[in-house]
Amino acid sequence: MILIKNARILDKDGSMDILINDEGRYEEISDKIDESKHSNCQVIDAKGMLAAPTFINTHMHLDKVYTSVSGRESVEETLEESIKIMHDRKRKYVVEDVKNRAVRAIKECVAYGCTKIRTNVDIDNMANLVGLKGVVAAKEECKDICDIQIAAFPQEGIFNNAGTERLMWEAMENGADVVGGMPAAEWLDSYAKKHVDLVFEIAKKYNALIDMHMDQSKDMFDRSMEYTAVKSMEEGMQGKVTGGHCTSIAYQNQSHAAKVMEILKIAEFNVCTNTQTLAIMGVDNEPRTRGVTRIREMVEMGINVATAQDTICDGFHLYGTGDPLDYGLICAYTAQYNTPKTARIVFDMLTKNSAKIFAPDEKYGIEVGNVADLNIIDASNVQEALRLRASRPYIIKKGKVIAKFEKKQTLI
Ligand SMILES: [Zn+2]
Repeated sequence: MILIKNARILDKDGSMDILINDEGRYEEISDKIDESKHSNCQVIDAKGMLAAPTFINTHMHLDKVYTSVSGRESVEETLEESIKIMHDRKRKYVVEDVKNRAVRAIKECVAYGCTKIRTNVDIDNMANLVGLKGVVAAKEECKDICDIQIAAFPQEGIFNNAGTERLMWEAMENGADVVGGMPAAEWLDSYAKKHVDLVFEIAKKYNALIDMHMDQSKDMFDRSMEYTAVKSMEEGMQGKVTGGHCTSIAYQNQSHAAKVMEILKIAEFNVCTNTQTLAIMGVDNEPRTRGVTRIREMVEMGINVATAQDTICDGFHLYGTGDPLDYGLICAYTAQYNTPKTARIVFDMLTKNSAKIFAPDEKYGIEVGNVADLNIIDASNVQEALRLRASRPYIIKKGKVIAKFEKKQTLI
């Protein structure tokens, strides 16, 4: 049992006490819990710090992490070139190496208070299932500290990459939980539609969620997102389909984009914008674009928008720490969210909006009966948490303290 005293819970007034039972669930939350009645429990004094549910990162590429530690050799700095840089790496994938890199990234993410990660893993005729095997092994090794979902991700397309259709089915039999997709990689629009159809066929067979890289281009004529959203309604999968990046819509004319966003809303389509990777990748002519989706319009319309890390130090992106407050801050910059109210939108993107993507039918948050996954953050409010990428002295998963993150500066 853990008794947390004097915590400030988001959306609750004043200082609160939180009692977590031996099953790792919230037993009681009130303004005062008498610790003498709970003699065997660990008492934590939160000293007025923020208590918030742990972060969820719904878009990662654990098979690729740290493949560019010695540098990212890119000339054009475009998405297309980044994909090519990764070809060579993928051909050289070794299960043990993928596993070790993925474990390192998972542990670093957990130490920042992120206890659920959905990762894509490349499935194609270069990586075959090697990346998947490595990430499945990492998932097993880290199962007590992080819940991992694996999306089978056909980065190179399905119908212009011979063998990938078969490998996608095999991936679902070998540890993938979510069906990924990348229709923009297909050569023809007709292939892109077939690609989306196959993703739904596999998802239906395995009762799996769908999370596709969606219209990830600066081509204003990409049309897979509306096709996918309508398909999710036809297949009764509203709320179970997520699009990552969704950049094409930012380049489309307003009347078409407005129509697409209306469809997304009706289809309860989730959007995950990964601004840290995209704002840096894809060098434009002046005036430069931010390369991200229509975050503000979508949020204002009530579309569920999350943000995620995407990549850490690989062929796509030289930087990245795995700290949600790090990539959340960059999302605030790219979405131009610059008030306490909009900082809260960013914080929700890192937490409850991501929870809707990760497990749409599960309860989430600091409420009696829910699983006690929470961070104690040394900040007075969410904008300060983001601004400072503040210390997190207690990272708690299923009622156990599993990590802490200490930000330390010393003036000598
Ligand atoms: Zn991605």
